[in-house]
Amino acid sequence: MSAPVYLSHPAVLDHDTGAHPERADRIRAIEAQLDRVGWHGFERREAPRVDRALLEHVHFREYVAAVGAYCERGGGAIDADTIVGPGSWEAALRSAGGAVELVELLLTNAASTGFAAGRPPGHHAKVARAMGFCLFNNIALAATHALREHGLERVLIIDWDVHHGNGTNDIFARSQSVLFISIHQDGLWPGTGPATDHGAGDGAGFTVNLPVPAGSGDDVFCGLIEERAVPLARQFEPQLVLVSAGYDAHAEDPLADCRVSDEGFAAMTAAVRELCAELGVPLGLVLEGGYELTALARSVELTLRELASAPRG
Ligand SMILES: [Zn+2]
Repeated sequence: MSAPVYLSHPAVLDHDTGAHPERADRIRAIEAQLDRVGWHGFERREAPRVDRALLEHVHFREYVAAVGAYCERGGGAIDADTIVGPGSWEAALRSAGGAVELVELLLTNAASTGFAAGRPPGHHAKVARAMGFCLFNNIALAATHALREHGLERVLIIDWDVHHGNGTNDIFARSQSVLFISIHQDGLWPGTGPATDHGAGDGAGFTVNLPVPAGSGDDVFCGLIEERAVPLARQFEPQLVLVSAGYDAHAEDPLADCRVSDEGFAAMTAAVRELCAELGVPLGLVLEGGYELTALARSVELTLRELASAPRG
């Protein structure tokens, strides 16, 4: 039986954002915590660079080139939140590549489940715009790889980051091949993702936005996974489930006002794991936000613990 896999790369630490919540210490904290507990049976693998053709399929070619050129010239602030330096280009390629490689390993049965721990994160990145600390949309690239290279017809993306995954939302808004379900704090930056946004055109109904009030905790987040996401998934019958796993809904997170606990993230992971076992489909998680280092490290560790106890579907 194949092992669960953890994908990252030393280059993701070279994405230098200065004094910024999305910093290299996030990955260091996660890996130090996993070192302490022995990695729960996960096999560590180096994330490859994302394939350029895939990158230019999801994002505009001119945008990809512009990000590369900007980093090469030394970087700076792409917008008020999104800072890049000379190392950010390689980090972005490895961050996206880790998410795509995770899907590749899952769909070739080379991994039972897995977690891609890259940075910059991805779910705010649009086809031609960096925003919210994100350059390329890692999870959209991973889902697109499954559809294009493996011929999948239905991929489910659950996004439990406290911010709306507006980039992913928009990339798949018109698609019936990707069911996108986002739980996020209502009114928080970037302000998108009302319940009335349910996709467009042929993709109407394949986007499900579940905004929650500030102060929402384990009961609300876990309840929405169990009572909304799971029944929708049973109807959709995905062939692959991916999670935009942000940890900024944590009670200790400085960037938002929700109240999820370490055990809440473990419970959401267990619920999605059980769903995937029931459906007999693989599950992969891709790191998004999470800015309180110790809460992030503990919660990711419990996530991996839950993933490792997954029965093979
Ligand atoms: Zn976030």
